[in-house]
Amino acid sequence: MSVTNELLNTVLRHAGQEVSRKDFLTMAGRGLAASVAAGTLAACHDKPAASAASATPTTGTPAAQVDASTTFTAAGGQQVPSSEAVSPPAKVPADASKPIELEAWKSDVDPKSPPTPTPLPPEQRVGYALVGLGHLTLEELLPAFGACKKSKPVALVSGSPEKLAKVAKQYGIKPTSCYSYADYDKLKDNPEVQAIYIVLPNSMHAEYVIRGAKTGKHILCEKPMANSVRECELMIAACKEAQVKLMIAYRIQYEPYNRLVRDMVRNQKFGKVKYIQAQNSQSSANVDHWRHKKALAGGGALPDIGLYCLNTSRFLLGTEPTEVFGYMHSTPGNPLFKEVEEMMSWQMRFPNGVLVSAITHYDTHDSRFYRVNAERGWLHLDNGYAYRGQQLQTSHAEGPAKMQNQITIGANNQFAAEMDHFSECILENKQPHTPGEEGLQDQRIMEAIYQSAREGRPVKLPPVSGTDVFRGPEPKMS
Ligand code: NAD
Repeated sequence: MSVTNELLNTVLRHAGQEVSRKDFLTMAGRGLAASVAAGTLAACHDKPAASAASATPTTGTPAAQVDASTTFTAAGGQQVPSSEAVSPPAKVPADASKPIELEAWKSDVDPKSPPTPTPLPPEQRVGYALVGLGHLTLEELLPAFGACKKSKPVALVSGSPEKLAKVAKQYGIKPTSCYSYADYDKLKDNPEVQAIYIVLPNSMHAEYVIRGAKTGKHILCEKPMANSVRECELMIAACKEAQVKLMIAYRIQYEPYNRLVRDMVRNQKFGKVKYIQAQNSQSSANVDHWRHKKALAGGGALPDIGLYCLNTSRFLLGTEPTEVFGYMHSTPGNPLFKEVEEMMSWQMRFPNGVLVSAITHYDTHDSRFYRVNAERGWLHLDNGYAYRGQQLQTSHAEGPAKMQNQITIGANNQFAAEMDHFSECILENKQPHTPGEEGLQDQRIMEAIYQSAREGRPVKLPPVSGTDVFRGPEPKMS
C-alpha cells in the first residue's frame, strides 16, 4: 500500500468516511501529497514492466515469500503488487429508502445522473402472482422484475404444466406456488402472494379480477380493463366489496418521456394546446389468435392498441372528451378482420375546443407516435407508446430562427415502474394513480367511438368537470 493511500485511509477512518478527496488534499498538505505522488511515480519508473502475456514470470517474488494480501497472481503466473483498492468517500444513510451518495466527479456541464437505486430487501417486497404466461408475461413482465425495487414474482398461474415448470425454475418460484386455472382461487391460501397481475385475453379480465378479489389479494389488471362498461363496473364493485386495491396497467402514465410531455402541456410550455395527432399501428398475421376473435378481444385495433392514443391524450390533457366521431374499416375478404376491425380513425372533442385526432391500424408497419400542437410550438414523441425508444422533439420560433430540439432524458423500464407503483400503494395503503375508474372511463369512450362509427354520426359523452378526476394521487417516480 502506498503512503498516499495509507494516509488517505487513516484520514477516512478518523473522519468516519465523511471526508472528500479535496478535503484530504487540504488536510495532508499539497506539498506532502505531491512529493508522495512523485515518489510513487519514480518507483514505478524504476520497476521493469510486468508482462501479462509472458508465460514465465519476469518480475515479482516467488509465491511462498509474498504477503497474499498485497500481491496477486497475474495471468502469466507472476506475483505482482495488488491494486491499491480503497472505498472513495460516500454518504451511506442507514435509512434503506435513501440513496447512497457516491463521490461526485462530473461537472455541471453534463446532465446529472439519477440517484443510486434504493431497492427494498427481497423479504420486504410485494409478492406477485402472474396469471397467464403469454407474450407480455414472458417477454416483458418477468424480466422487468429484475429492475423492480418493491416487487417480486412469487407465484404463477397457467394452463400449461410444462410452461409452469420451466418458468418457475427460471425465476426461482416454488413448485408449490404454481397453479392451474382451475386452482386459481387457491391463491387465497398463499401468504407470499399480496398482488395478482391479470395478463389474460381481454374477455377474461372481468372473471379473473372478480375471482381474484375474493382471494383477498390486490389486483393489477392489464388493459383494456374489460370488454364492456358493465364488466368494468362489476370489477370495481367486487374490489371495493373485498376491500382490495384495483389498478389498470397503463404503463405510459409511469414512463418518463410521456410524463415530461404531460408536464410541458400542463405548464403551457408553448402556450395552450390546440390539437393532438396520435397514431398507434402495427401488423398482425395470425387469424387463430384471440386478438382476432371478437368474443375474446372485444374488438380489434381500437381496444388493443388504439387505446394508447385515447388514454395518453386524456393523461396529457387531464380533461375528458365531450364528444367523439369514429370511422371504422376492415378490408373485405381478409379473414383477420372478419370479426374485429382492422382500422379505426376517430376524433375527440375536449373542453375549450381542443381536438384529438387519432388512428389505429392492424395491417401496417408499426408506427407509434403523437404530436401535441400548441399556440407557439409543438412536442412530438416518436415511439410514444412503445415499450422503449421514446424520442422527444420540440419546435418553436426564436426571432428569425426556428428552433427544433431533441430532448433526451433517462429512460426507465415502464413495467417495473408500474408494478413498483402498485406495490408502493399496497405497502403504504394509497390509491393507485390508474385505478379501475380510469379503465372504466376509457371503456365508456371506446363504446361511444364504436357507436359513432356504426351510426355515422358524432356521439356525445356525459360532461365531466375538473382535472384528473378518474386518477389517483401522483405516483412517486424514482
Ligand atoms: P398472449 O396471447 O401472448 O398471452 C395470453 C395468455 O393467456 C397465454 O398464456 C394463454 O395461454 C392464456 N390464455 C388463457 N386462456 C386463454 C384463451 N381462452 N385463449 C387464449 N389465451 C388464453 O397475449 P398477451 O399479448 O400476453 O396479452 C395478454 C393481455 O395483456 C391482454 O389483455 C393484452 O391487451 C395485454 N397486453 C398489454 C400490453 C402492455 O403494454 N401493457 C402489451 C401486450 C399485451
